[in-house]
Amino acid sequence: MLSFHLVMYFSYLLTAFALFHGTSALVITDSPMKLAFHDAEKLQTLYEISLQQFEPSLTCISNDVGNSIPIYPCIALGASASGWAFAVDVSNRSRHEFEVKNEAEGNLRFEPVRALLATLNQRDIAMAGLGASTLAWHRQHQFCGLCGSRMVAVEAGGRRACTSETCRNRAYPRVDPVVIALVQDPVRDKILLGRQSVYRPMMYSCLAGYVGPCESLEEAVRREVKEESGIDVGEMSYHSSQPWPIGRGASCQMMVGFTATATSTEIHIDTNELEDCRWFSRAEVAEAEELVVARRPGPSDESSKTLSIPGPYAIAHHLIKNWLSTTKAPLQASGRNKL
Ligand SMILES: [Zn+2]
Repeated sequence: MLSFHLVMYFSYLLTAFALFHGTSALVITDSPMKLAFHDAEKLQTLYEISLQQFEPSLTCISNDVGNSIPIYPCIALGASASGWAFAVDVSNRSRHEFEVKNEAEGNLRFEPVRALLATLNQRDIAMAGLGASTLAWHRQHQFCGLCGSRMVAVEAGGRRACTSETCRNRAYPRVDPVVIALVQDPVRDKILLGRQSVYRPMMYSCLAGYVGPCESLEEAVRREVKEESGIDVGEMSYHSSQPWPIGRGASCQMMVGFTATATSTEIHIDTNELEDCRWFSRAEVAEAEELVVARRPGPSDESSKTLSIPGPYAIAHHLIKNWLSTTKAPLQASGRNKL
């Protein structure tokens, strides 16, 4: 990876900085909403933040302990023809210091990345997700898990390194694999969808769960579907994947999507995982409302009786829509018929 210092000190005029507060990103709320970027000069004049205050930098490492200079974790988001983009963590300041309203900068406000998934363009979603999840990982790995010494970000935030000369432990940003499955019953032409209690009323989605240690993706699909719904799964095939930057503990998940064929029909819900789980017909799914925001609270009609599914920002949407676009019962009958 290109040296962080070379980028910062020799090309900084071409750099742009996006600001993050917790898992929220600073956006320009004017239509269309977009990620707010500032150059180094604006950071200094508007917010009194200088490049010397960024971690990682040699200056910050030497001043890291026992110094009152505020330190702002900073990671590289990527490069384009117009220069480099970085994400800066300003969680140690009040968010109101950055939420300005003026003609030059527009209306600036911190918005949770979860809420931005359905509103930003693809480029800004990718950078907001990468910035929020990676900065959260850095916040959670301040000290070495082996020796307890302080760890610092290096390689433009690509990893953290223990500062102990005798330890030199390294830690890399975490990605959690998660399987998500569209389980279908080709005989009855129905799909299995579940809902969590945090969802908005009548919102259902595909079943999903974390991949366990030493478990294949296929094994994880079978186990998760069985645990949550009691349904057995036979044949399955990979469909697509999606990075999900707002996972548990602000971690980044890798959602791996499958279509799977059920070999049983009787549902036994694990109420610790799901509030409800049902088979839905093609007609019900075809009429489903697509939700921009899947979780409570939301503006939806609490008395709604119509099925709702996630909007296009979620891989579940595409798994469901893919099933809808296929003709009825395209697969060979499930293993249930062989028994
Ligand atoms: Zn260590």
